[in-house]
This record gives sequence, C-alpha cells and structure tokens, in this order.
Amino acid sequence: MNNFDITIIGSGPGGYVAAIRCAQLGMKTAIIEKYNTLGGTCLNVGCIPSKTLLDSSEHFHNATHNFTEHGIDVKDVKANIEQMIIRKNKVVSQTCDGIKFLMDKNNIEVFNGIGSIVDKNSVKVTDKDNKETVLNTKNILLATGSKPNFFPGMEPDKDRIITSTEALNMKEIPKKMIVIGGGVIGLELGSVFARLGTKIEVVEFANTIIPTMDKTMSKELTKVLKKEGFKFHLQHKVQQVTNTGKGVKLTALNKKDEEVTLEGDYCLVAVGRKPFTTGLGLENVGLVPNNKGQIDVNDNLQTAVPNIYAIGDVVRGPMLAHKAEEEGVFVAELLAGQKPHLNYDLIPGVVYTWPEVASVGKTEDELISEGKEINIGSFPIKALGRARASMDIMGTIKVIADKETDEVLGVHMIAPRAADLIMEAVVAMEFRASAEDIARICHPHPTYSEGIKEAALAATSDRALHI
Ligand code: FAD
Ligand code: NAD
Repeated sequence: MNNFDITIIGSGPGGYVAAIRCAQLGMKTAIIEKYNTLGGTCLNVGCIPSKTLLDSSEHFHNATHNFTEHGIDVKDVKANIEQMIIRKNKVVSQTCDGIKFLMDKNNIEVFNGIGSIVDKNSVKVTDKDNKETVLNTKNILLATGSKPNFFPGMEPDKDRIITSTEALNMKEIPKKMIVIGGGVIGLELGSVFARLGTKIEVVEFANTIIPTMDKTMSKELTKVLKKEGFKFHLQHKVQQVTNTGKGVKLTALNKKDEEVTLEGDYCLVAVGRKPFTTGLGLENVGLVPNNKGQIDVNDNLQTAVPNIYAIGDVVRGPMLAHKAEEEGVFVAELLAGQKPHLNYDLIPGVVYTWPEVASVGKTEDELISEGKEINIGSFPIKALGRARASMDIMGTIKVIADKETDEVLGVHMIAPRAADLIMEAVVAMEFRASAEDIARICHPHPTYSEGIKEAALAATSDRALHI
C-alpha cells in the first residue's frame, strides 16, 4: 500500500510546493512532517508570523506617530501584545490549514512523524507514539529546512536569550532588547518591537547592517532605523551573553578591542540559520553534509545518490521561501521528464522594515569588483507625489545598467511597498531589458512605481524628469 513515486521529507515551502507539483504531474506523492502543522519554518515561525506582527506594529506606529498629521485624532492608543499574538496565531493556523487542504485536494498522503532514510528506496516514519511505518519509494526529496544558528557564548536559553521563534511569541513588550545580528531577522523583528516602544540595540559583527545587500541600502536603512530609535554597535565581536534572571548582560569587543557591556530585558540571537539534517538517516545511503551542514546537490538538485534530491534551506543558495518553492517545482518537473529552468541570479531579496528594502541582481560593489563598467541612476522617494500623499518620504531607488549595452544588471530600492515594486525589475531583468526599456514603459501616476521609471531614466541617460 505504501508505494510512492516520490516521498518528500519536510513540509515547508520547498516540500509542500514540490508535493503539489508532483501530484499535478501524476506522481503518487507522500509528504512527511514531524510537527503537527504543515508549512515548515515559513508558515509557522518565519515569513507569515513575522509579517503579521510587522503589520500590527506598523498600524500602532502610524496611530501614534502619523494619524494626527493626517487629521485623525485618537486618544490613549495602547499596544496589546496579547491580542497581537492571538491574531498572529490565527493567521498562522489559517495558512497552515490551507496547506492541509491543498494536500487533500491533490491526493497527497501526509504522514506525521520523523522521516528518515532507510535505503535509497525506503523511508521510515516514526510517529509521536514511536510507531514506525515504512514507505517504499522510487524517489526521495529532502526538504528539511534550517534552524536558528548561534556561536559560542550566545547559546539561546529560550527564556531571556531567544531566537526568532520565541520573539514571535512574546508575552510582554520589553523595555529594552539587544539584538545580535543586523541582518534580516534582527532588523525585521527589531522593527516590530521598536514600533511598540522597545529600545533596540543591535550588535553587528560587520561594518554595516544588511551587509550582503547594496551599500546604499545599508546606509539608507541605517538612517531610517535610527529615526525609529535603533542604536547600532557595528564591528563588535560578542564575547558572552548571560541571563541574569531579570534580564540579560552582553559583553562584546569593539573595533579597538575594548570591552563593551550592554544590558537589556532580552537578547535576540539572529546571526543566520543552519541547515537541518539531524535524524534524517543520510549515513544510511552514504551522504555526508558538507562543512556548512548543507546537503550537496548538482545543478539538477540531485544528491550523490541519483534518486535522492534536496531543496530549500538545506542546500546551497539564499535561505528564502520563494527560492525553496522554485526548487520544489524544478525537481517535480525534472522527474516528470520536463526541462525546467531556475535563474538563481534573479531571486529577489526583501527586508520587511518600513520602508521595505528590496533588491534583485548584482550590487554596485559586486559589479565593480567584476570590472564591469556601469551607469547608476537613483531617484529619491520624496520626489514622488504618491509618497508625499501617504507621508512615506524616506528611501531611494537605484537602477544599475551596463555602460555599453544599457542592460539592467541590478535594481535596489528602499521604498514603501518595495517588496511588491521589485517585481517590475525582476520581470524586466528576466527579459534582459535595458534601462531605456523600463524608462519608456508608461507607469501609472501617482504611484511609487514611477520611482523605478525615473531611476531607469537617470541610469540610461541622466534624464530623470522630476528631479
Ligand atoms: P522549512 O520551511 O524550514 O521546512 C522544513 C520542514 O521540514 C519543517 O517543517 C521541519 O519540521 C521538517 N522536518 C525537518 N526534518 C524532518 C524530518 N526528519 N522528518 C519530518 N519532517 C522534518 N523567507 C522569505 O522568503 N521571506 C520572508 O519574509 C521570510 N521571513 C522569515 C522570517 C523568519 C523569522 C525566519 C526564521 C525565516 C524567514 N524566511 C523568509 C526564511 C524561510 O522561512 C525559509 O527560507 C523557508 O522556510 C525554507 O523552506 P524549506 O522548505 O527549505 O524549509
Ligand atoms: P542574516 O544572514 O540575514 O543576518 C545575520 C547577521 O548577523 C549578518 O549581518 C551577520 O554579519 C551578523 N553576524 C553573524 N555572526 C555574528 C556575530 N558573531 N556577532 C554579531 N553579528 C553577527 O541571518 P538572519 O537575519 O538570522 O536570517 C536567517 C535567514 O533567514 C537569512 O538567510 C534570511 O534570508 C532568511 N530570512 C529572510 C527574510 C526575508 O526574506 N524577509 C526574513 C527573515 C529571515
């Protein structure tokens, strides 16, 4: 009975999307998830809950900072963290239930328990009562995702020294929170609490925040977040974080190697995530994770065992839900004999602060270090009528084009709704558009998207219209 064309271990955006596509293509599909709900990190403790709290806290921020200017008088506005978490949990459970519905609709068999490889054609599921079920399978897809990372001296105790998972379930609004890591999680969750009134101090190892993004974005986002009350300790090496019972104490070395001590109510450790393969039985088929903990795969996302594939956070590449999803579809279509294509150069990245930061393609520094001759066009958000209407005047849009061919090589923006705006650039770049192509497209007025047209005009021949 338990014979499958494909058995997928892990039901995050990689695993569940792969399952749907496999089923659509006629494969008898099984998916194994160790937690009670489907959806993985993204739906349960990642993308969805963080964006839900970001939206709630943004409403609070607007009510306390911007409503009066808009002519809306509200008194005694209070943040109710308990209700925010209740709403967040509702959104998460509706979204996870939606995945269960999609599994049923597509006749995908869901097994709850820990999946481990027995041999290349069988996978064992061990449920919470230790009952074992063996699935016979032609192919195996590993989509086991990742877990929060940490370094010696900053081990999370899940009480005062917390990871994103605990930060998404806070019972109180801290007075002060120390955040280790000025990357995506640190700045998104830091924003949630800063808007609710928490003093946020970020301790970052690099000399900028969001160090992998275009340097203009780091600079602009630093300005925005400082205005929100963030304090940054850049080029600091964390030595030790201690739970003092009522709070935390952190010691770090600054760039002059002097010891710095910070105190707060909580410390959020957000220094990246590590691939998760514990208990997966890789050793039973001779697979060994690489020195980053990832499962090595070739261009077809195939491991060293030809019928075992791996996708998402557990393999190389950006740890993003949409990247995991595309890889899931890729493997399904490949198994069905199709010729799928995935352009890793054009996976957009977003930081959901406000304004949002979004980017696609290469950064200015990457292009310079490759020796490319480039034109850069920038346009400030404050010059847009739409931005003045909404009072969202911070930010800038930057289009980088090849000096000779005018092909767009990178688009980076910090702008209201940048997460959605960036798709214009992704589409244009997928079709290898020039800056002039974007500049000649009629953009609706008044919108934030006019900023992309203006930045493209500036890049193609320095002829932005409204500046
Ligand atoms: P996961 O989503 O991690 O899913 C893996 C699943 O496998 C888990 O459910 C796990 O329980 C299960 N599993 C593991 N081992 C076994 C086993 N042996 N047996 C059975 N089940 C197993 N990305 C974005 O693109 N946009 C965002 O806005 C965003 N926000 C984020 C916010 C936070 C706070 C965090 C932590 C992450 C965020 N991410 C975001 C990253 C995103 O969540 C991940 O890139 C994505 O979830 C990876 O998908 P995946 O399918 O590879 O793995
Ligand atoms: P990250 O890689 O984005 O940021 C980690 C930050 O910690 C970096 O700035 C790094 O320089 C810093 N750091 C590393 N070691 C340090 C140390 N010892 N002391 C101080 N700073 C240190 O990782 P993250 O923010 O933890 O997020 C994990 C993953 O989840 C990311 O890959 C990200 O793509 C994904 N995610 C995505 C989104 C989104 O798409 N909006 C949101 C949240 C998480």
